[in-house]
Amino acid sequence: MKQITRRQCLRTLGLGAVAAMSPAIIRAQSLQPRVVVVGGGFAGATTAKYLRHWSSGVDVTLVEANSTYYSPILSNLVLNGQRSLSQLAFSYSTLQQSYGINVVQQTVAGVDPLTQRLQLGDGSQLSYDRLVLAPGIRFRSVPGLDSSRILHAWKSGDQVVQLQQQLAAMPAGGHFVLAIPPKPYRCPPGPYERACVVADYLQRNKPGSRVTVLDANPSIVAERETFSVAFEQTYAGIVDYLPNAELLSVDSDQKIAYTSLGSFTADVLNVIPTQEAGSLIHETGLANDPTGRWASVNPLSYEATATQNIHVVGDSQGTGQPKAGHIGNAEAKVCADAILRLLNGMSPYGTPLTNSACYSPISANTASWLTIVYRYDATTGTMQPVPGSLGQSTTPTTRNYTRMFQWAENLFADTFS
Ligand SMILES: Cc1cc2nc3c(=O)[nH]c(=O)nc-3n(C[C@H](O)[C@H](O)[C@H](O)COP(=O)(O)OP(=O)(O)OC[C@H]3O[C@@H](n4cnc5c(N)ncnc54)[C@H](O)[C@@H]3O)c2cc1C
Repeated sequence: MKQITRRQCLRTLGLGAVAAMSPAIIRAQSLQPRVVVVGGGFAGATTAKYLRHWSSGVDVTLVEANSTYYSPILSNLVLNGQRSLSQLAFSYSTLQQSYGINVVQQTVAGVDPLTQRLQLGDGSQLSYDRLVLAPGIRFRSVPGLDSSRILHAWKSGDQVVQLQQQLAAMPAGGHFVLAIPPKPYRCPPGPYERACVVADYLQRNKPGSRVTVLDANPSIVAERETFSVAFEQTYAGIVDYLPNAELLSVDSDQKIAYTSLGSFTADVLNVIPTQEAGSLIHETGLANDPTGRWASVNPLSYEATATQNIHVVGDSQGTGQPKAGHIGNAEAKVCADAILRLLNGMSPYGTPLTNSACYSPISANTASWLTIVYRYDATTGTMQPVPGSLGQSTTPTTRNYTRMFQWAENLFADTFS
């Protein structure tokens, strides 16, 4: 009964009629369906924005732990001084003021799918008709790793600045050791990009320094040709790339990485641990993909297979699509569209497309790029790469470097403005 009334409400208001009303008046109407989005990164912020962009007949609340979001995209450029952290900072004020989204700065402590309520860190509760979870990733523990000293710098923010400070304090002739986790992890080319950016910085600022890349994977995960050339030619004598180097433990005092290939002592040790969906996904019982690391979802709506009315987008979802911000933004639009259709008693759109794009700085003025398109395959119920859609640069160029910033600015604006 309650649901029918809300559907009727959406239909009655209609997009055109509602658009003329102020968000404040609309929020005051208690009959509006209530969608709560948790996590204000590329996936969550985009979902919240497009729910309101496409329909003012829905009450949208975005719950985010922090007041400022620091983009992991371009964050490797903080390490070589090409970007400051403040250039990667975004607030939620435009989403609040221009789109009428209720922004709540709180950590979500728990979700009760039965009562459809969220428990917030301050003890208050929020009810929802549909919930979207976009909490990103969390790290699996590594024996001996003290994450306050041995940094990952994989979620942007303070850790990136601290890693930059560690590099700046490193002596000439020093040793930077980077441990890459087994896939899937956030941003497939990202760790190799970091090795290049750090090698470039050390070459120019710390003569005689070396970079050892300890890759848990059997080979370079993305843009193999580009990074092979970078390691073997551009940074020959600086970068030593070692595949099949499974990280076993860390001595955080001595900065030693113990791996299946032996031990490596560093001046700066940068460990990117094995990743899985954000804690909230596990605590809510949604990490039900075959690996137990990610949330299985229906790719037509991103509704979790484990429970109704909860959707999961971004790095936490387990569709097999890359864990990246650009495609998280695309998933968010598919999800927002599906939620609005479902609230109107319709089925989700049947053949969604998503696409991924990554730009990788290779030096202080060159970059490479990688892109791929995914399409829903009704036979398997999965998102599959569109044949022939995989594109990548043939060689890193200064033109790509300029375009990298244009691409990123577009993505940032589409998400936060
Ligand atoms: C060096 C680097 C380079 C990259 N380059 C690219 C690139 O070129 N292209 C690309 O597409 N991607 C790139 N990425 C990947 C991209 O940054 C991530 O895939 C993207 O940030 C994931 O978005 P998300 O919204 O799923 O998660 P996040 O961005 O991590 O956002 C999750 C949000 O949820 C909040 N949150 C978590 N739990 C709670 C809770 N319980 N309560 C309230 N809030 C909560 C967090 O505070 C956070 O703000 C790169 C990543 C790195 C590290």
